[in-house]
Amino acid sequence: MKIKFCGAAQSVTGSRHVVEACGKNILLDCGMVQGGGRDNARKQNTNFLFEPKEIDFVIISHAHIDHVGMLPRLVKFGFRGQVFCTAATRELAEVMLLDSSHIQKQDAEFVGKKSGKKIEPLFDDIDVRKTMKLFSTFEYFQKFRITEGVWATFYDAGHVLGSSIVALDAKEEGEQKRLVYTGDLGRKYLPILNDPYQVDHADFLIIESTYAGHLHDSFSNVREELEYIVNDVVKRGGKIIIPGFSLERTQELVYVLHELYNAKKIPAIPIFVDSPLSSKISKIFDKYVDYYDNETYRAFLSKKQSPFNFKEIKYIESVEESKKLNHFEGSCIIISASGMCEAGRIQHHLKSHMTDPKNLILIVGFMAQGTRGRQIVEGARKIRIFGRLYPLRAEVVVMNAFSAHADKIELLEYVKNINDLEIIFIVHCEENECMIMRDNLHNILKFKGKAEVVDLGEEFDLSNEGLAARYGTRRKQYIEMMGKLKEKV
Ligand SMILES: [Zn+2]
Repeated sequence: MKIKFCGAAQSVTGSRHVVEACGKNILLDCGMVQGGGRDNARKQNTNFLFEPKEIDFVIISHAHIDHVGMLPRLVKFGFRGQVFCTAATRELAEVMLLDSSHIQKQDAEFVGKKSGKKIEPLFDDIDVRKTMKLFSTFEYFQKFRITEGVWATFYDAGHVLGSSIVALDAKEEGEQKRLVYTGDLGRKYLPILNDPYQVDHADFLIIESTYAGHLHDSFSNVREELEYIVNDVVKRGGKIIIPGFSLERTQELVYVLHELYNAKKIPAIPIFVDSPLSSKISKIFDKYVDYYDNETYRAFLSKKQSPFNFKEIKYIESVEESKKLNHFEGSCIIISASGMCEAGRIQHHLKSHMTDPKNLILIVGFMAQGTRGRQIVEGARKIRIFGRLYPLRAEVVVMNAFSAHADKIELLEYVKNINDLEIIFIVHCEENECMIMRDNLHNILKFKGKAEVVDLGEEFDLSNEGLAARYGTRRKQYIEMMGKLKEKV
């Protein structure tokens, strides 16, 4: 087995890792690089660091664009193999990719106009349609054969609906090895989702480490906080504006608000979900009730209720309806995209409502550097929207508890419970966070194997021979220490 890291190496987007096993190339995720400047992102998105035609299979861990977004481009440039994921991921990926295709088109037109050159979008709807024909789906725990000698199993990652931790079992020249890829690792106690499944054995682990140096607030405080916020804003006759990521965060918010309505803890003010993508995704959530956790079953399904449909909620589709919200009288909650306030209908809602101190902007997601959302979080007094500066007088509240990524302790706990680990590959984290993860593994977990902060394009030969060549005689010591690698956190 060999592995080459072609994305999310000391960065948090563009996950792409090529595993070579039994003579086949298996690509783990085919994500889009986002942020870091348009030119840089485009450069990385148009250069895969491998030949699309040489990839035999793709496995998609979940439907976030930074994990699936470049799949249509892979197809556009010659990939014709199968794509494996869960059924929910396939369906979510389709709407996410079509939405992304639309953004690619707009983006290419914008850059083309500015530069005076014709710019091709990264992919289009036709590429997405071709891509969707290549999917085969499998359920959690269903071990399936990829090729002679290589099997895969999905386990629930508890990150977004359908998200998977991927285990690859490969037998080559008498060596049986297990590689586990966390995808994005979720958290315990998130609404709707099951807790991340604990894999208990792996030789090699590729682990995301987005929040290796952070501790999140507990989700248990979210209900009380939201209850307080809604009651407070209604009392002063204001509106609540929430920039919401369309996949998962919006559904989680709706879920908690629905619970609060049911318990009569908040007044029955309308909730508008003003994002056609969020509406489509919520419909997919309604289809995949088998993926929900027991708590969701008890709270809603057992009463024949959908967490995402109730009297007070309205999903807004048309632009006309969306515009009408600007003149809505009285208190309401508006959840709209994009999550970082950079595009989409949220811009209109901010423009119309942020100048009034009665209103409240609720931040529930990560706001990357350089985004409008980040300016709001950092206390800017004026925000530029559609070329004009508007005063920000509304109250701003930031809730960190909604994060769908494991934090420092959760990451270390996860590793601690995996036996036989020889090498841990640290991915999906900013450089500093990656180093923190490596230090924590060695210093807190006392992990005696190798913890590698991988470089973009770096390759590892994971055969016994390859490992001996890379790590020399020290490898012997690692093998001896296997089984007693880990101590308590
Ligand atoms: Zn994700």
